[in-house]
Parts: sequence; structure tokens; C-alpha cells
Amino acid sequence: MSDSTPRKGLFDWYFKSNLLLRIFIGLVLGVIVGWFAGESILWVRPLGDILLRLLSMIVMPIIFAPLVVGAASISPRSLGRVGLKALGFYMVTSVLAVCLGLIVANIIRPGDGLELIDAAGVAGREVVTPALSETLMGVIPRNPFNAISEGQVLPSIFFAIVFGLGICFLRDHGEDRLKNAGETLFLLFDGAAEVMYIIVRWVLQYAPIGVFALIAVVFAEQGAEALGPLGVVTGAAYLGFVVQVVGIYGGLLMLNKLGVIRYLTGGKEAIITAFVTRSSSAALPVTMRCCADMGVNKSIYSFTLPLGTTINMDGTAIYQGICALFIGFAIGLPLDFGQQVTIVITAVLASIGTAGVPAAGAIMLLMVLNSVGLTVETGSAVAAAYAMILGIDAVLDMGRTGVNVSGNICAALLISKSEKQLDYDRWKNPGKSGLEI
Ligand code: ASP
Repeated sequence: MSDSTPRKGLFDWYFKSNLLLRIFIGLVLGVIVGWFAGESILWVRPLGDILLRLLSMIVMPIIFAPLVVGAASISPRSLGRVGLKALGFYMVTSVLAVCLGLIVANIIRPGDGLELIDAAGVAGREVVTPALSETLMGVIPRNPFNAISEGQVLPSIFFAIVFGLGICFLRDHGEDRLKNAGETLFLLFDGAAEVMYIIVRWVLQYAPIGVFALIAVVFAEQGAEALGPLGVVTGAAYLGFVVQVVGIYGGLLMLNKLGVIRYLTGGKEAIITAFVTRSSSAALPVTMRCCADMGVNKSIYSFTLPLGTTINMDGTAIYQGICALFIGFAIGLPLDFGQQVTIVITAVLASIGTAGVPAAGAIMLLMVLNSVGLTVETGSAVAAAYAMILGIDAVLDMGRTGVNVSGNICAALLISKSEKQLDYDRWKNPGKSGLEI
């Protein structure tokens, strides 16, 4: 005799409750516990590392499999068009982001009056830009298997697209044997992509615990500083982040008749994941799911999101603009107009070169500072100001990574719409596609 009433599981209270609510509770508890318990809570760090490891475990497969499927299902002509649209969007919004950071910092003037002394390091205004040609050449992998196993995103994207296009041609072939081979490969990668999405759901179940640990550690280590003397720079950066997301992305979406609230609610899992992991590449699997659930076509998001995660860092660009000005104010040598123009150029290049991992933007900031002669040398005032910023980097990194991911979602939505590939049924009916786990 079979018992038809479903048995109550021991962890139903956890697995059956709303995932987002659980993540939010984890976040709030993390702030409170981290703040009050201080260093005594640092033992939870491994619980956060587990979440980061799980997310990075799925990054390369989730870039590769859907991208092959995407390239295999899209006509080569529209792939080129989608690529150009994505690059155009990424460039324009990054320039706007640095300008926004500069405007906010010029108004709020973070660091003004700090008067850090010994400004010896401000001599030598030499412009240093990254070797763009090297970056471009590096896109073509010498060995695609190495590129994938080492987690190099751009060369892996390149190979996945070429491979997917090959499948696309095979599926269209007149000879049955080749056509079938193409179809088999297509189904294989399609299946692999779907499996990856299932794994994302599983990983998300662990997210509330990981989030709690990650946030508790940040606040145990840096909570007080973030609200102390560096509060102004934190506030200025977060003001810039909010204006970028609500004003610039929201404005662009509204111009295209897409609602901001739907965009934010649909993207919240990805934005929260980015916020707590401080890594847009760790958040990529969740970002893909959110875009799918908002109705973005797979052939669009599987291409634009990995690309955006690598080269589109608007939050990082805002942060770099604000921090460069902060350092100028802090050492009593505010940057002039010409220097600020240089910052726009180098911050855009730096944000392209920034990896989607925690703290990468703070390293690239050194390059931006160099370009206006603010060299970080031992004992200099610039070094002291830079160290102050570095002290609260985790708090700034959370916000800028959230913006980086929001920008990628916005691009995917707009490009999908302009390609007439947005599923309005999904866009208009949140939750319909079953993201709630
Ligand atoms: N953490 C950022 C990201 O992953 C990069 C940065 O440090 O600015 O998007």
C-alpha cells in the first residue's frame, strides 16, 4: 500500500521557503553579526569560500555550452550585428559611467580638506595606457583547451563562437551524414547547457549561508571604516552607482518601453549575487538565468553576457573616476579638466581590462592614477590616500560589481528587444518560467 500524502522533509522550512527572502535574511544577519561580533566571527570565512568555489566551478561550462548553442542557432550575419550592438552599448555606457563618477566627485569633493602631506609622488605626468593590441591578439587562443581550463574568458568565447558557427553550417548541410552529425552535436551542447542551469539552481540553494558568511567577514573587517572618515567617498560612489542603474540604464530601458521595476525585480538575484560575491564572473550563471526568465533570447544572452562580464564594467569605471578625484583632493592637488579627460580614457580602458573577480578594479586603479601622474610610491601622500581606499575596497567592490552586472542585464534586454528576440510573455509575467526554486 502506498502512502499518498507527501512526507514532510526535515529541511522543508529551508528549501520550501522563498529563496530571495532567505538570501536577504542571510545578508542582513551577516551585516549585524559581522558588525557586532567583529573578528570573533572570522571563522565563518570558509562557508563563504564554498559559495565562491561553487560559483566559479560552473563559470566556464556555463559560458561555453550555451555560447556554442547560441552561435549554432543564430545566423552568422545577425551574430555580427549583435556583437556590434553589444560593443557599442558597452563603450557608450562605460564613458557615461566615468563621466558620472567625475561629476559626482566634483560636486561632493570626497577627500577635500584631508591634506595628506608629503605629496612627492605627484611629479611626472606620463600617460600610460594598456597595450590594447596585446589584449586584442590574446582573444585568439593558441590552444582552446588551455584557454578553457585556465578560465580565460575572451579566448574561450572566441573559440565557442567559431565552434558553434561550425555546427550551424553542419546542421544546414545537404549531406545527411553531416547534417545528423551537426544535429547530434547541437543536442549534446544544448543538453549540457540545460544541465548547467539545473546546477545553478542547486548552487543558489546554498547561497543564503554563503552570503551570510561573506558579508559577516566584510563587516567584521571593514564595517567601521566604511562608515567613518571614508564615509563620504563610500556615499559618493554609491550615489553614482544608483544614478547609473536607475537613471542611465532605467532611462535607456524606458526609452525602449521596458519598465525599470521589472528590470530590477527580474535581475535582483544576479545583482545580489554580484553584490555579495564581488565577482561578476561568479555571478554570471545567475545572470544568465535571470535574463532567460525575463524573456531574453538564449542566442543573445549566451553571447552578450560572457562578453559583458569581461569587458563591460560600468561600476568599476564610476569607482575609478571617483577614487582618482578623491586622491587628488586628499593630497591637496585637485585634478584639472585635462587630467579628468585623461581619466575618462584610461578608466574606460582599465574597466575593459578589469577581470570580473574581487578587487580587480582596485588594481586597475593604479593604472588610471599613473596616467595623470599620481604614482603610488612608498611613503608618498598618493600611496597613503590609495591605502585608505584599499581599506574599504570590499564595500566599494560590492556596489560596483552589482552595477557591472546590472549593465550587462540592461544590454542583453535592449539588444534582445532591438533584434525582436524578447519573449514578451516572459517579460510581462514574472515567475512564469519557474525561477522560484
Ligand atoms: N569585482 C568587480 C567585478 O567582478 C571588478 C572590480 O573589482 O571592479 O565585476
